[in-house]
Amino acid sequence: MPKAAKQHTTVRTSARERQRIRDQWVAKQKPGSRYERNRAIRNRPHVREFMRIMRNRMPVCLDPFGLHWDAEATVVSEDVHHIEPLCDKPEKATDPGNVIAVCRSCHGKLEGAAARGVDTTEACRRAREAWEEEHE
Ligand SMILES: [Zn+2]
Repeated sequence: MPKAAKQHTTVRTSARERQRIRDQWVAKQKPGSRYERNRAIRNRPHVREFMRIMRNRMPVCLDPFGLHWDAEATVVSEDVHHIEPLCDKPEKATDPGNVIAVCRSCHGKLEGAAARGVDTTEACRRAREAWEEEHE
């Protein structure tokens, strides 16, 4: 089906629901996990500010798995995901080319895949390139 023919709906979860999903996910993370190692870098004020700016620049989930596209949905972005992980490439923490904005669901899938050793960088790069083509 050609792109223009798709009818999109915007899905927005409540702040309470987003917090519940986040709390559930955080509770599952183990000490010394990727999440824990990344958090120290992510919580630095200049990194947090950079991520806020990038999320505003990409207000919708870039849909790295193509799930929203398949569902004909546009989903509001809630998180910023580092394509090359903070724990591996801390020097890319504030590299605008190293992030994609995602919804909480896609972010959970990306981090879950990474925790299982699945490389998601190509899927993220493709999503980012597709967005650049439409918006730059
Ligand atoms: Zn998403």
